[in-house]
Amino acid sequence: MGTIISMTVYPGGGMTGEEARELLAETKGLVRSLEETLLSRKLETAELWKIDQKAGDKEGMPISELLSGILEECFQVSEDSGGAFDVSVGPLVRLWRMDERAAGEEEATLPTAEEIERAAALCGWDKIRLADGKITLAEGACIDLGAVGKGIALDEIVRALEGTGVSGVFSLGGSILTYGEKPDGSPWRVGVVDPRDPAKTLGNLELRGQWCVSTSGDYERFFEVDGVRYHHLLDPATGYPARSGLRSVTILSKSGFLSDALSTACFVLGREKGMELAEKYQAEILLVEEDGTIYISEGLKSIFSAIN
Ligand code: AMP
Ligand code: MG
Repeated sequence: MGTIISMTVYPGGGMTGEEARELLAETKGLVRSLEETLLSRKLETAELWKIDQKAGDKEGMPISELLSGILEECFQVSEDSGGAFDVSVGPLVRLWRMDERAAGEEEATLPTAEEIERAAALCGWDKIRLADGKITLAEGACIDLGAVGKGIALDEIVRALEGTGVSGVFSLGGSILTYGEKPDGSPWRVGVVDPRDPAKTLGNLELRGQWCVSTSGDYERFFEVDGVRYHHLLDPATGYPARSGLRSVTILSKSGFLSDALSTACFVLGREKGMELAEKYQAEILLVEEDGTIYISEGLKSIFSAIN
């Protein structure tokens, strides 16, 4: 997934240290296998790779239940966010080449308005059809699960941990899972990154039990042209990086998928609509506005402490 995974587990339920280490290895294997069977764009074994090859093919390609379930959930979030979140943004993601430009591997230039218009015309969830366990993509369409991959992996990790008695913290890039209770009874502490100085934290969340915490921000992958920041969170309505007045959005949910999908969706929507969407999904939200103001939902008031 192009990110660093860090895991800390506390053996529980009579488990030995050795057994806990085995469980860790198993968990790591799960993430790798998700990449190999589903998410990778480069491995021929992955469903997304296969779907890429079949775009425009009218026959449709059989897909796994896991993937069709994920896509159904994605379509629901698309609908609920008025299209701000849309996994059919693949053609725009390809055009912007944010990974390469942010890494300095490619010149930081802007696509032309015409190129953006052409790519945007290939996006939209009407370009993806799911029926009878098969998927059909319109010519030139492309699914991008970059907004939810890490969250999906966290949900897989939860399934592996259930019933084992272990507790721990699992971090996949910007997405973190806390699971169970710390043996000393203290809460898990998860830092929220300062979007203008990502080496620092803005504050800490003190969490108990199972939570998935996901952050989307304009500091993760971006390049600048004439003093304007172009980042990886695209607004499907314009084809350009979203200008919603935010620097970052952090979402807390029991579900990894939802925390990841909603952090992207709410970033594109901006503060007011983003807060409404989070509430609809009973998720907690923390937003950092362009001027640095922090907004938090009611449920975070007792568990978030800002560092001044
Ligand atoms: P995240 O860091 O989880 O917010 O995911 C960002 C990634 O999601 C980007 O790098 C793109 O691959 C993809 N993406 C960008 N904009 C959107 C959008 N509006 N809806 C869905 N996925 C998007
Ligand atoms: Mg996301």
